[in-house]
Amino acid sequence: MDVTKIRKDFPVLNRKVNGRPLIYFDNAATSQTPTQVINTIVDYYENYNANIHRGVHALSQEATNAYEGARQKIQHHFNAAQPYEVIFTSGTTHSINIVSNGYGELLNQGDELIVSALEHHSNIVPWQMLCEKTGALLKVIPMNEDGVLLMDAYDDLLSERTKLVFVNHVSNALGTINPIEEIINKAHEVGAEVLIDGAQASPHIKADLQSINVDYYVTSAHKICGPTGIGILYGKENSLKRLPPFQGGGEMIAEVTFEKTTYAGLPHKFEAGTPNIAGGIAFGAALDYLNSIGMEKIAEYEQELLIYGTAALKKIPGLKVYGEALNKTAVISFNVQGIHPYDIGSILDKLGIAVRTGHHCAQPIMDFYRIPGTVRASFSFYNTFEEIDTMVKAVEKAVQMLK
Ligand SMILES: *Cc1c(COP(=O)(O)O)cnc(C)c1O
Repeated sequence: MDVTKIRKDFPVLNRKVNGRPLIYFDNAATSQTPTQVINTIVDYYENYNANIHRGVHALSQEATNAYEGARQKIQHHFNAAQPYEVIFTSGTTHSINIVSNGYGELLNQGDELIVSALEHHSNIVPWQMLCEKTGALLKVIPMNEDGVLLMDAYDDLLSERTKLVFVNHVSNALGTINPIEEIINKAHEVGAEVLIDGAQASPHIKADLQSINVDYYVTSAHKICGPTGIGILYGKENSLKRLPPFQGGGEMIAEVTFEKTTYAGLPHKFEAGTPNIAGGIAFGAALDYLNSIGMEKIAEYEQELLIYGTAALKKIPGLKVYGEALNKTAVISFNVQGIHPYDIGSILDKLGIAVRTGHHCAQPIMDFYRIPGTVRASFSFYNTFEEIDTMVKAVEKAVQMLK
């Protein structure tokens, strides 16, 4: 991988922050956008901005073709069986809410749902709201000190009362890669469906949706070099047909009279209103960009960054890394004894280094470790070993200042 060449594709990496070259280590929150993707958005607004699906005129047809072409790119990238199993949404959170809302009509009192201890709030809160509405019970797969799910406990939670299991593919707070195939297969044995939150996995792992046999898979473009405000809900055809629609409006109907409205088929049933057209097209362009580099090469290089960064940080006295699963992506969550994570983050920012501090929208994980939060450095394929060296020196300096 030619990282020097790749870095030229990301205009933001040229800028300075507080007089220092930007070091962007907040990739788990959102990734940076390459020129190739930015140009797709500019091209759309400069040359063929029009509403889709409705117009007979040339611009509308061009926009429709580009938008539907992007849907097919996403279908092929994730190996979905049909393009209409890919629903465009505003992102992971929206996608999860479509399913949790629809399940409101599919559940009964006493039905059970299973979540994991490693989740982002967006894969917890919608389900708690659903439980309040339906009287269903939420069960939690616990984890150990390394941030690894306890699969024996999962076995014990499963029963014929289980209706849906929802787990992230990769934890955004710790980087743990969960054994989703085992989770999916075991849920299917008791007749439950499974939703996998792929927001943190998509930048590093190309999920093969047919092979893992998942019922629902959700992700956001902005974590994979695409723009904000666009993502997908993948669902198996039969699951999506059974699920009631989320929002009513234009585009999602077959026929409307004041007596009765019938819904459109897939994917339109879940796509009410004018969508983020440029965003959808740019999502497709982002996948093209990643595939032009190669997802395997990206994952391999990021693992090297992870191993290098973990070893270097651990040499700092009093520094503890949270989440040491054998299978993890390039996320390092850490604290230094006696120092608040926010203070380290602020000093790093003064030195041009962007890391995240806090609970990372995963408060239950922080509660498990009895900490208010961590400093999280998350790497992407456009980061370098030199940047990690600079960060480690900056953390050492911060520790000296704060001790
Ligand atoms: C980022 C993230 C989300 C939320 O994604 P949005 O784009 O904010 O909807 C959910 N789950 C995980 C694991 C994430 O990393």
